[in-house]
Amino acid sequence: MRVVLLGPPGAGKGTQAQKLAEKLGIPQISTGDLFRQNISAGTPLGLEAKRYLDSGDLVPAELTNALVADRISQPDAADGFILDGFPRSVEQAEALHDMLEGRNTKIDAALEFQVSEDELLQRLKDRGRADDTEEVIRNRMQVYRDETEPLLEYYRDELKTVDAVGNPDEVFARALRALGK
Ligand code: ADP
Repeated sequence: MRVVLLGPPGAGKGTQAQKLAEKLGIPQISTGDLFRQNISAGTPLGLEAKRYLDSGDLVPAELTNALVADRISQPDAADGFILDGFPRSVEQAEALHDMLEGRNTKIDAALEFQVSEDELLQRLKDRGRADDTEEVIRNRMQVYRDETEPLLEYYRDELKTVDAVGNPDEVFARALRALGK
């Protein structure tokens, strides 16, 4: 099963991606984690991506799309994956469509995690990651509204909405139900 996770920063996509991946026996592919690993390892990609993560802007398409194309072509992703943090724009969704079309496959479901903005701000402040300062959070929220929200319409036929307020196990149960699992 090929699933994309949608929802604003702080909605809990990373936590749910991990649980879903384990349950369904397919890899979790998180672009944010992949960028952070490259930054820690000091790779050329990491050096290029760092300033975008630090400001909360999207890493340019050519870097991001190449990273995802490479990852989904690994053998462990042949039967499915949980994509967390990608696509984040219609341009990326179209690139993903093309990558999958090349293998005669497509996205089966888009899960949208819904949380109110007040709850999100609180969660992000509590999390305290390097890019969770107030100014960067604000920018990531704005980028979400401008670039990522249009994906709800792009994926309207595959879209399933999940109430993401509650403890992680409750949200996970709702996510599985939404996927019919
Ligand atoms: P969150 O969902 O909490 O904002 P992520 O770990 O998904 O956190 O992303 C952190 C940062 O990594 C983003 O603000 C952005 O700079 C970069 N990033 C992650 N995924 C993408 C993507 N698909 N396209 C461009 N940049 C991305």
